Amino acid sequence: MTAATATTCPYCGVGCGVLAALDTAGTTRVAGDPAHASNRGRLCVKGAALGDTVGPEGRLLHPMLRGADGVLRQASWDDAVRRVAEGFARIVAEHGPDAVAFYVSGQLLTEDYYVVNKLAKGYLGTANIDTNSRLCMSSAVAGHKRAFGEDVVPGCYDDLEQAEVVVLVGSNTAWCHPVLFQRIAAAREGRDGPRVVVIDPRFTATCESADLHLPIRPGSDVRLFNGLLSFLFRHGVVDPAFIDDRTEGFNRALAAAEAEAGDAAEVARRCGLQEADVLAFYRLFARHEKVVTLFSQGVNQSTSGTDKVNAIINCHLATGRIGWPGMGPFSITGQPNAMGGREVGGLANMLAAHMELNDPLHRDIVQSYWRSPRIADKPGLKAVELFEAIGEGRVKAVWIMATNPVVSLPDADRVSAALARCELVVSSDIVERTDTNAFAHVLLPALGWGEKNGTVTSSERRISRQRPFLPAPGEARADWRAVCDVARHMGFEQGFGFAHPHEIFVEHAGLTAFRNHPPRADGLPAAPRRLHLGTLSALDRHAYDGLAPVQWPVTEDGRGTQRLFADGAFSHADGRARFVAVASRPPAHAIDREYPLVLNTGRIRDQWHTMTRTARSPRLNGHIGEPFVDMHPHDALRSGVRDGELARVSSRWGAMVARVRHGGGILAGSVFAPIHWNDQFASDARVGGVVNPAVDPVSGEPEFKHTPVRIEPFPVRWYGFALSRQPLPASVLSYWTLIRGDRFLRYEIAHRERPADSDAWARTWLGVDDPAADWLTHDDRDTGAYRAVHVRDGCIEACLFLAAQPHLPSRQWLASLFARERLSEADRQHLLSGEPPGGGSDPGPVVCSCFGVGRNTICAAIRANDLDMPAQITAELRAGGNCGSCIPELRRLIAETRATSEA
Ligand code: SF4
Repeated sequence: MTAATATTCPYCGVGCGVLAALDTAGTTRVAGDPAHASNRGRLCVKGAALGDTVGPEGRLLHPMLRGADGVLRQASWDDAVRRVAEGFARIVAEHGPDAVAFYVSGQLLTEDYYVVNKLAKGYLGTANIDTNSRLCMSSAVAGHKRAFGEDVVPGCYDDLEQAEVVVLVGSNTAWCHPVLFQRIAAAREGRDGPRVVVIDPRFTATCESADLHLPIRPGSDVRLFNGLLSFLFRHGVVDPAFIDDRTEGFNRALAAAEAEAGDAAEVARRCGLQEADVLAFYRLFARHEKVVTLFSQGVNQSTSGTDKVNAIINCHLATGRIGWPGMGPFSITGQPNAMGGREVGGLANMLAAHMELNDPLHRDIVQSYWRSPRIADKPGLKAVELFEAIGEGRVKAVWIMATNPVVSLPDADRVSAALARCELVVSSDIVERTDTNAFAHVLLPALGWGEKNGTVTSSERRISRQRPFLPAPGEARADWRAVCDVARHMGFEQGFGFAHPHEIFVEHAGLTAFRNHPPRADGLPAAPRRLHLGTLSALDRHAYDGLAPVQWPVTEDGRGTQRLFADGAFSHADGRARFVAVASRPPAHAIDREYPLVLNTGRIRDQWHTMTRTARSPRLNGHIGEPFVDMHPHDALRSGVRDGELARVSSRWGAMVARVRHGGGILAGSVFAPIHWNDQFASDARVGGVVNPAVDPVSGEPEFKHTPVRIEPFPVRWYGFALSRQPLPASVLSYWTLIRGDRFLRYEIAHRERPADSDAWARTWLGVDDPAADWLTHDDRDTGAYRAVHVRDGCIEACLFLAAQPHLPSRQWLASLFARERLSEADRQHLLSGEPPGGGSDPGPVVCSCFGVGRNTICAAIRANDLDMPAQITAELRAGGNCGSCIPELRRLIAETRATSEA
């Protein structure tokens, strides 16, 4: 085993420290870093499976250029750099700087982000650089700036353990930020652990152990928090001294709150809640000083997302509960480096180092520090409007980095249409085939996790190093280096002579300190920007390489800062925070007779973004393998669809196909679909194609949580599945999903046509053209059931099971046979039944991905041993004993199984 490299998980905004090493076979082994303050040795299942995702399959290894014949071919870096530089330069010369754009990613390292932002704003002179973080937390950014004068998260993760009450708003923390959820859960095991309130339209895994769940009507959060502000005031819980001394705008905010939410009964009615539950929440908040309100995409991804953020912050300002241990509003970001991107100005409406595009003083500070030839002087296009501009031909060249907008943006079919007509599409990526790369004229191979070298900043302002422990594959290069190569080819030698990410980092750190708190020529007072990394600008290469995780601002002696604003000094010029008067607004698009259901979208536990990495891991694919639409049984009945069948989900913007399921946690009137699947893994499951493109007027964040949709049956003649060692031609079928297993590929399939001769069709589709092949079949023409297994050299090679209904044998036992070196005679005799010899039981769908423990196994153990604690299941089956991500599901299975047994 090589010595472990301390690095950082590349997935969510928790920013867990990871120790990575290679074993003697060259396999990557990972463990949580006990010395990292964010996770203290914990990892969730995605982090724990990082080693499965670093293989060479599908990697983009060389630059590729699309020729006049439309074909992508391998090219040299020199040619690729020339094509990008000359293409961008020509379009800028002919149409001006705003005819080019960059669309980057919260997956980039801060150093990558810094140089691309510098090129766009300081050298090309356009602020058309936006990021997929726009889709995730830009409402939080806008809310912070309105309230505090700067995009600052005041607290830290320790506050979640020190709080008396944790309010989780629009956050399925158990699945989306599992390590934080585990920290809260661990704190709750102590006597003084926090009470937990979950505010979410869905009953998610996060709700399993909550003290109170408010299944709020989608979009009504502003009213609920305005009601809280009113309640706090009426019950004398506000802090008059703090309000008077440290804030502005309380009376107007309170008047707005009173106007729409002064009556708790009315608040409850309009939010779709029980009055008693609303009052219970208000009383918990009022009676405990130490309250953290943690919010995420359920708040941000809304046309009133910024107002929701400020409605939450208003309550903390009114009580003065901010900046002290165990209290404060807390925005948790989806991506690993959303905050690092914000630090270096990686959004179209900001400059680097938390400075503002529309402030001449800030523009002067940045331009003089960079000594750049120009500086963008107006905000650029935010993500959704950027792709609209591409579609309209106003933006003619776009460089996309580490993101997949054809999948992830709303109204995604318009995004693909826009890229199809764009003159120059450049994509920097680690994988060759993505829905977005299909439109690229230039593909640039980037470094992936394990190869990158730089920094990321987590949701608690903690800067951590991502360190390389793997060599760069093929000709892959760091994104910062590709940007510098292009910049230099455009003639910008000065400003892009970086030879190492350390040089970029110290320049970035220096800018945060440069003229921070300068005298203003316009006579206005100036407050310091809290983003200050000044002492880090003195790091030498050795110190940068060894940099320990640190929270900004960094003090003169190099120490970090856990919390901000305890001194009551905010970043507005007068040092005071602002209340923002907010009022409820309905979502942009209301349901109607044609589209009667509300589509909510989000993540699942074991996949990440568009699955380019997590879908490589068999264990991550075991939990939920298919795109689904979760809906209430009553809505399913009304829509004419049934659990397990396929449905078409359509809106005014597009449609997708997914498997219907009744997860049990969704309100009637709403449906939920995950964001992950795309054309690489399923026939037609891009939920972005269905989502409406309305955005928050302040932040520009799209309304991913509220699109009116209709659900209809997706009629097919048969359902089936196939397991195969070789890829199969799934695209000929009406429906397919591809799931990577351990030594096999699994296809869940369905089709509109029934073949006249099932056996002939199966042989052709599975590629078994040898008449002498070891081929076992069962064909029941009366029921429409057909089964075939291809055995080669005593091993299973492929199998195919078809039926008129979606009721098919479990895949688990058949899948396990692909790991066998030879089938036993008993196995062989049972192949066509799909069930193990001796009547072994079906373990059911995987719940614990770490140990591959299925639902049926867990339920059987609960029944047989009368288990009532997740820890007992762990002792019995190991499930839940590693990363702990499945513990909320174990809790649910205990409740369900015991309820069934007692009935
Ligand atoms: S919670 Fe999981 S996905 Fe998020 S940073 Fe930690 S290990 Fe990675």
